[in-house]
Amino acid sequence: MLEGGARVMRPRRAAPGDAVRPTRAEVNLAALRHNLRVVQKHAEGQKVWAVLKADGYGHGSPAVARTLERAGADGFCVALLEEGIELREAGIMAPILVMGGYYGSATAELLARRLTPVVYDWSQIEAFSRLARSGAVAGPVDVHLKIDTGMARLGVRMNELPAFAARLAGQQEIRVTGLMTHLADADAASPEEMREQMRKFELATAEGVKVGLRPVVRHAANSAAVLRREAKLDAVRPGVAIFGVSPVILEQGAGELHLAMRVRTEIAALRTVEAGERIGYGGLWTAARKSVIATIPMGYADGLSRALTNRGHALVRGKRVPIAGAVSMDMAMLDVTDIAGVSVRDEAVVLGAQEGPLGKDSISAEEVAKHAGTIAWEVLTSISRRVPRFYREP
Ligand SMILES: *Cc1c(COP(=O)(O)O)cnc(C)c1O
Repeated sequence: MLEGGARVMRPRRAAPGDAVRPTRAEVNLAALRHNLRVVQKHAEGQKVWAVLKADGYGHGSPAVARTLERAGADGFCVALLEEGIELREAGIMAPILVMGGYYGSATAELLARRLTPVVYDWSQIEAFSRLARSGAVAGPVDVHLKIDTGMARLGVRMNELPAFAARLAGQQEIRVTGLMTHLADADAASPEEMREQMRKFELATAEGVKVGLRPVVRHAANSAAVLRREAKLDAVRPGVAIFGVSPVILEQGAGELHLAMRVRTEIAALRTVEAGERIGYGGLWTAARKSVIATIPMGYADGLSRALTNRGHALVRGKRVPIAGAVSMDMAMLDVTDIAGVSVRDEAVVLGAQEGPLGKDSISAEEVAKHAGTIAWEVLTSISRRVPRFYREP
């Protein structure tokens, strides 16, 4: 039964069948499995709950989840209820934790889908208690309680915890099976801030136990923490590492992560411009010499940030070339003057590796992030819905 007839809509995304343009994101499923193994090794026996929020960091969460579930991931975390439902509709059976806290009037659908809510606010507890009392669900509702140990984003504040936990322990309809926190500085040079958060988390656990809470799974570590073998509890929540980005330098012999996404397109047009000619909106690039300019059908609306104007790169024929002029909405221009033999329909790679007659190179998400003034997480999640995802083995 859906409470108040609430129905959660599924997110929409372009399907490969729609792909007329040669602009695509290729997702290497073998790389996902490899990265999961690297994370599992660092987790040293802790359960691995892969974080697949924001459509699996832009990779397409159903395909990623199916791949990881078969490869031995213990569970998944998403931010939104809609994201959890999408995974259930894709046939995912593993536990799914909904971390964002927005359940609206769809609490019944959340439980009917066997999604586990994260709670941190009394109104959420009340909503689930009411539902349980109405008989819409059998038995108590299992939740994970979030503690704010220093991130100051979501979670019960440490000073409010004793009262909150005591009240929660008296709530028959709710069973706190999990206790979690989120780390603000897991990738900092010094682990001190993270360790201070973990000390608070231990205090929070003790507070909860004192009043009768019995969480069976505690978790805190994101990618950076698990790769540093810090914040060890019962489970870890790696996101970006699964997709091949390491927020920290891995220790020797730990095995490299492999970037799972490769974004490629093809040169749509070529022209030769004279020295002094200007390129693109605002004429932000001026040819210093007679130059060959390639136009690619990928722009900021596809996730090629406009901040890459005159800063970013692409790979053509295995060689790095600069973006020339302003990235526009649907297109961008490259200075391919030094690319011998360049022609229309040559592949241009803006993220990931390419091998060609002129060599072999790759563009990392970290590099794009640096040029665009952002972080690798945003680079991956910015690849927009109109870029179809293609799944490859290997
Ligand atoms: C996004 C997120 C993660 C994963 O973070 P990564 O740095 O991508 O590993 C873990 N926990 C929470 C609560 C998050 O929001």
